Amino acid sequence: MLAADDRAAGPTKTLGFAFVGLGGFAMNQLLPGISRCKFCKPVALVSGHPDKAAAVARQYGIESANIYSYENFDSIKNNPGIDVVYIVLPNGMHAEYTVRAFGAGKHVMCEKPMANTVEECRQMIDAAKAAGKKLQIGYRMHWDAPTLACIDALRNNEIGPIQIIETETGFTIGDPSQWRLNRKLAGGGCLMDIGIYSLSAARYLSGEEPTEVFAHTYQDTADPRFKEVEQNCDFQLKFPSGVLASCLSSYNANLNRYAVHGRKGYCVLEPGQSYWGVKFQISRGRGLEAVDVNEADQFVGEMDGFAQALSGNAPFKATGEEGLQDLRIMEAIYESAREGKSVKV
Ligand code: NAD
Repeated sequence: MLAADDRAAGPTKTLGFAFVGLGGFAMNQLLPGISRCKFCKPVALVSGHPDKAAAVARQYGIESANIYSYENFDSIKNNPGIDVVYIVLPNGMHAEYTVRAFGAGKHVMCEKPMANTVEECRQMIDAAKAAGKKLQIGYRMHWDAPTLACIDALRNNEIGPIQIIETETGFTIGDPSQWRLNRKLAGGGCLMDIGIYSLSAARYLSGEEPTEVFAHTYQDTADPRFKEVEQNCDFQLKFPSGVLASCLSSYNANLNRYAVHGRKGYCVLEPGQSYWGVKFQISRGRGLEAVDVNEADQFVGEMDGFAQALSGNAPFKATGEEGLQDLRIMEAIYESAREGKSVKV
């Protein structure tokens, strides 16, 4: 279960990363992020666009011999400089490229959601085991300092026993032709992409696993963006202690807030899942006070964190089992919305 980071102790090997997919997230967050890492460096790129890859390689000091295409990707097995493959492709491609990367004998980081289905998640976990390599999912909030401070306050009972959790995540999506709105490539709509943060937060804030879900989805098929996937998904989670979580996600409204209500007070994370500037506030029965937490770099956290775990100096977090658990619950959420009744997880 997610808790404050254990301090790394002992030497950590510097790992060479290959990035698969040079889209928005890789270009704007992960490549700049790895440049700030202590224990990781970019050494290879896998792309369907050779010109773009060549320009990115020059920018990050990557040798041109280390640029691969999706076709010759498997030949990374002959490159001992690559320790970790980071999959930053559309969700529907995560399983295939993760399995191929393990086949090449590399460790894997894969973006969230881990895959489109529980079945694919199991194939990825099995491939890791067969290769004797490790898998980490891109749950960057697991390294976010204000989030970890909030979790600490909750576990220290600062607001009393938790009663109710509210999580809200969403943004207004644009271009109808993008892969996020294509069911085969995305696996679903707002739930798969941004609602997964509402789900994951309800789990790490409660510190429990839900036993039952109830959900509604809405899709206006007259809108060219929502021909194939849901635009809104609202779900409730019931936890063993009795905690209830009310979770929203949307592709048609901007939402970014988590609140946890206890018997003695409440906590707010707002914004709750931004790349930077997550803000933690707490009320211990009086007014809401901002808690000053030094911002930690989520991207450095997740990549250096993986390097430290692989060197035996930190626990493994955001494992394949964690990704599988979210997929298992999301499949139950979709089933509940389809059937119009609650579903046991
Ligand atoms: P993007 O559309 O910007 O990039 C997708 C990349 O995949 C591009 O380089 C594209 O060329 C490549 N690609 C290969 N085959 C493709 C195909 N058939 N169709 C479309 N693109 C194809 O997407 P992104 O925002 O970079 O998202 C990539 C992954 O990263 C997704 O799994 C997404 O959920 C995840 N992501 C995570 C975060 C986070 O905060 N952890 C943020 C954004 C995206």
